[in-house]
Amino acid sequence: MTTVTSTKFAKSEELFRRAQQRTPGGVNSPVRAFRGVGGTPLFLARGEGSRVFDVDGNAYIDYVGSWGPMIAGHRPPFVMEALRQALAIGTSFGAPTGQEVEFAELIAKMVPSMEMVRLVNSGTEATMSALRVARGFTGRDLTIKFEGCYHGHVDSLLVKAGSGMATLGIADTAGVPAAFAATTIALPYNSIAAVEKVFAERGGKIAAVIVEPVVGNMGCVPPAPGFLEALRSLTEKHGALLIFDEVMTGFRVAPGGAQQRFSIRPDLTTLGKIIGAGLPMAAYGGRADVMKKIAPVGPVYQAGTLSGNPLAVSAGLAMLRHLAAHPEIYETLEARAAQLTAWTPPGVTVNRVGSIFTFFFTDQPVSDWESAKRSDTARFAKFFHFMLERGIYLAPSQFEAAFLSSAHSEADIRATIDAAKEFFSRE
Ligand SMILES: *Cc1c(COP(=O)(O)O)cnc(C)c1O
Repeated sequence: MTTVTSTKFAKSEELFRRAQQRTPGGVNSPVRAFRGVGGTPLFLARGEGSRVFDVDGNAYIDYVGSWGPMIAGHRPPFVMEALRQALAIGTSFGAPTGQEVEFAELIAKMVPSMEMVRLVNSGTEATMSALRVARGFTGRDLTIKFEGCYHGHVDSLLVKAGSGMATLGIADTAGVPAAFAATTIALPYNSIAAVEKVFAERGGKIAAVIVEPVVGNMGCVPPAPGFLEALRSLTEKHGALLIFDEVMTGFRVAPGGAQQRFSIRPDLTTLGKIIGAGLPMAAYGGRADVMKKIAPVGPVYQAGTLSGNPLAVSAGLAMLRHLAAHPEIYETLEARAAQLTAWTPPGVTVNRVGSIFTFFFTDQPVSDWESAKRSDTARFAKFFHFMLERGIYLAPSQFEAAFLSSAHSEADIRATIDAAKEFFSRE
């Protein structure tokens, strides 16, 4: 691991040194640690619009966007105003509030398959709970997931789970009992034949298929034509539930998420990231007959002290209202992201769906984890540091997606393309 020693990052380096004494790896989530690219993670001081600023005072055009939530950039005025009003009322009650009702109604309006919704605090909680209710509803134990898809750090789902573990070279995590992992069948993304085969052999035991309808967590990988349709018809045929994990794609690839973009109605959906506008908030929901299995109306238990937290709901409600009222945002995002990815550097494959995209450092198409893995991660690391030097903050791993926000200007896009072109011309 190389260490950056220039004074440009002196304060980040000092904080990182201290952080490592008290926090494993110096970070509160592994992908933040720059292990995939080397060097010292930037400690950030603040964000504004398309920019983040580190503790040493360096400014960056931000393509991480808190890993997805910041679709309107940092500190959008409508979210700040909602938070100001919420602060005047109180930060937590552990009792229902009116705005939770409005929030659930608006979610159901934007994502019509979510007839009923339960609010939780993280994407991990959402997928864990969706899986539990799928098992409770079907009376079956097995789950199909896809290699390279990440669904949070749920025990049984940490099998071939994409970016974070891939970056660190961890195949299957320690600490998960073999019996939990054995409830998960991991198949290659985009392989209809593999799913057909498993259903033919064990269809009666499968509770659910969980999928990122557009993968973000091995870098951006779109679904092949017919793949999501096949998942829909196979699950239906065998009495299993189809769970779209839209924690990343929800309100991102369309106002109604990937299910709107690809016209597929899943049984259950998980949401996170954008739904909280940068506060800890997530949700799961779907068919009313399934969701009615959840306590207190049904036997599947799931709870949370801070679930539906007033600050998080205020921020999320302001965000969803903004997106629902301004569908033109998605056209702008699409156009700007298309501009940013309209050129293909030598020896690079560009994947993009809406405002999610990845430059894979391989000249072969990337359609699943096997093909993503062929990327030249050392070459990516050089690109990453080159861009960082020029004030462009990308996710510190080849196996992560970049996110565009409505705060990114044409000038931001041009500056980014110019810097990238300089890298490839000098390489
Ligand atoms: C980020 C993510 C999660 C996990 O959400 P957390 O809030 O980090 O727990 C789950 N699924 C997908 C698709 C994600 O992108």
